[in-house]
Amino acid sequence: MSDLRYDPVFDVWTAISEVRRERPIEFVPIEQSLKQLICPFCLGNELETPPTILALDGQARRLEHEQNGHWLARVIPNKFPTYVGGPSPGTAAIGPFLRSMRLGDQELIIPTPRHVDSLAELTVEEMTTALRAAQYRLEDKAQRGVIEHAMLFVNCRYDAGASIAHIHFQMIGSPVTTTALQGRAERFGAGRSSGRSLMGEVIDFERREQVRLVRETDDFLMFCPFASRMAFQVWIVPRQCIRPIWQVPIDHLRQIAELSQFYVDRIERLLSKPAYNWMLHQLPFSSAQADHWFIEIVPRVSKTAGYEMGTDIWVNPVAPETAARQLKV
Ligand SMILES: [Zn+2]
Repeated sequence: MSDLRYDPVFDVWTAISEVRRERPIEFVPIEQSLKQLICPFCLGNELETPPTILALDGQARRLEHEQNGHWLARVIPNKFPTYVGGPSPGTAAIGPFLRSMRLGDQELIIPTPRHVDSLAELTVEEMTTALRAAQYRLEDKAQRGVIEHAMLFVNCRYDAGASIAHIHFQMIGSPVTTTALQGRAERFGAGRSSGRSLMGEVIDFERREQVRLVRETDDFLMFCPFASRMAFQVWIVPRQCIRPIWQVPIDHLRQIAELSQFYVDRIERLLSKPAYNWMLHQLPFSSAQADHWFIEIVPRVSKTAGYEMGTDIWVNPVAPETAARQLKV
């Protein structure tokens, strides 16, 4: 059973997805689930996955067939999707609740045919090419207009939600926009007294203060945000954002890859290879022109407890100023 339901009490959507119970990690001990005999994402095992949607070579060019062994990044549908079913418009009322009549889609981007389990172990070319593949898929979704929003993310290691050790990106396209996304779209689109956008003001503030900056490149800033919810949380933010991420040049993707890999390498040394999530935060496609998208990476070093779940106020045991000092060494 797969279903998307709206709860008016908490003003949130929930994906009910029983098909995911068949995933390798659901209710299976970790030692068992991560020791699969055949890794479906490794070179030569392409037939173990659903058919390829898109494959790119080392120069980020599209390939006609991936089975010749020359692919560097491969996009496939998720075998255990959060959403399944065909699209039909609108929502239906079920008592005081709502149910979406449309369902989204879910794809995986395999960034390397080599069996590695962290972004830090990819080459810069591999990660850049995977981000290029994501651009192709995001542009396709934006043009087709079937889904409202796409989330690109990486779950690395079991505590971050990974079910297959071979590192991979996931992209989930959802047919609804949430109140949180709508609120961010309004804040990003609203005029500021400074004449700068909200994210523009954040960038100016962090550059002025310096104490939470971790690293800068020509086009990006990486810093631990002032009100970090989690220990060692970082944002990678473009200095100027005048276009959706699927329209930025490949040199910008390379800078994102380099910063992401620098950060992951640092936390793997500092925190003994923690699980972590890498996320691209972007607005719904309808607000793409007012967006100032950014990347967030968080190591999963503390559990979400009752207070956080009940209030959405997070308790962070490491000040972002302390985290930045340790990260940039
Ligand atoms: Zn593998």
